[in-house]
Amino acid sequence: MKISTKLNKIKFSGIGEMVKLANKIGGDMVRMEMGDVDYSPPRCVKDALLKAVNEGYTHYPTFQGYDDLIESIIKKLGKENNLSENPDNILVTSGGSMALFVVLSTLINPGDEIIIPDPVWCHFPPMIELAGGIPHTVSLDSNNKFELNIDELKNKITNKTKVILLNTPNNPTGAVMSRKSCEEVSEIAKEHNLFIIADEEYEKFVYGNNKHTSIASMYDNTVTIQSFSKTYAMSGFRLGYIVANSELIKELGKMNLYSAMYASSISQKAALAAMNNGQEFVKNMVKEFENRMNVLVDGLNSIDGIECAKSQGSVYVWPSISKLGMSSIETAKFLIEKAKVVTVAGSEFGKNGERYLRLSLGVSMNRIKEGIKRIKEAVENKI
Ligand code: PLP
Repeated sequence: MKISTKLNKIKFSGIGEMVKLANKIGGDMVRMEMGDVDYSPPRCVKDALLKAVNEGYTHYPTFQGYDDLIESIIKKLGKENNLSENPDNILVTSGGSMALFVVLSTLINPGDEIIIPDPVWCHFPPMIELAGGIPHTVSLDSNNKFELNIDELKNKITNKTKVILLNTPNNPTGAVMSRKSCEEVSEIAKEHNLFIIADEEYEKFVYGNNKHTSIASMYDNTVTIQSFSKTYAMSGFRLGYIVANSELIKELGKMNLYSAMYASSISQKAALAAMNNGQEFVKNMVKEFENRMNVLVDGLNSIDGIECAKSQGSVYVWPSISKLGMSSIETAKFLIEKAKVVTVAGSEFGKNGERYLRLSLGVSMNRIKEGIKRIKEAVENKI
C-alpha cells in the first residue's frame, strides 16, 4: 500500500501478538499484560461526566482547556510537584499519549536525536520516528536500581541531540528516578542546552520510601507530561496535560489545534471532579497496588529461576527470567500456553529488556495469587 514511508517502517507492538495467541487458546487466562488499572473511576467522576452532558458541555471546549480545570492543575502542581505555574504554562490534551506526540512533533526537526532510556515504554521510539527524530538509547542500569547510566548518557550526546525523554516512575522497570539522578540529568541537559521531556504518567504510583521528583522543579527547559488515565482510573476518558514555558505552550497549542484540535469537554469536567474529590480514592488504590506488588514480587521470587526486585513505583513488576534459559518471547509464549498467564516479553521494551518480563498490577489480588500459582507449576515442571 502507498502509505508514508515513515509509517510503513513502523510495526504494531508485539504485545498484540501475545494477546492474539492468548485469545486463540482461549479459556480462563490470567491477564497480566494490560498497561491499565482495573479500578472503575470514583463516583464523583462518573456523576460529573453525566452532569456535564446534561448541562450541555457537549460542544468544543476552550482552546487550552477549561479555566477551572487549569486553575486546579496549577494548585496541584504547586502543592505536589514544587512547580509554580500560570495558566499560560498549561495545555490540556487528549491523554498523555497525545501530549507526548504534540511535544515531539513540535520540537523535532528531521534528523534530530532524542535520548530515551532502555528499557523504555514501547511507544516512545515510534512516536519519535513519526515526528522525524532518531531515538538513541541510554541503559537503565540493572545493577543500580534501573537508574539512568550517566556516563553512557554523556557519551551519547552529539551536536544533533535535542531532547532527553525520561519516564519516572518507569514503565516497564518500576524504577523511580532518585533526586540525585534527576539533578545529574538536569546538569547535563543544561550544559548542552537540551530539552528534557518528563513523562510523569505514573507519578502517584510510588511505593515504600521512594519519592517522585518532577525534573521541571530543577530544570526550566523541561516539558512535563501528566495524565488522568492511571491516577484516577480514567484511561477511557482520554485526558492529560502538558506543563511548559508559555512561549512553548503557544507553539504546542498550534500543533494541538491542527491535530487533536481540543481535549474532550466532558472529560475535562470529570477530571475537575476527580481533582477536587478523588484524593481518598487515589490513596486507597495506590495502597492496594502496593499490596499487590509485594504479593506478586514475593510470589515470583518463590519460583525457581525467577528473580524480581520490588518495584519502586508504576503499575508493573519486572522479573528477571534469565535463569529459565529461554528468550523473553519464548517465556511469554510458554506462560500463555502452559500456565494460561499473559505477560509481556521484556524485549518489547528494548534491547535491555531481553531476559525480563513485564507483569501488570492492574488485576485483582485473587487473580495475582492464581497467576503466581500457575506460573510456579508450569516453570517448576519444566525445570
Ligand atoms: N506514558 C507512559 C509511560 C505510559 O505507559 C502510557 C500508557 O500506558 C502513557 C504515557 C499514555 O497514556 P495515556 O495516553 O492514557 O495518558
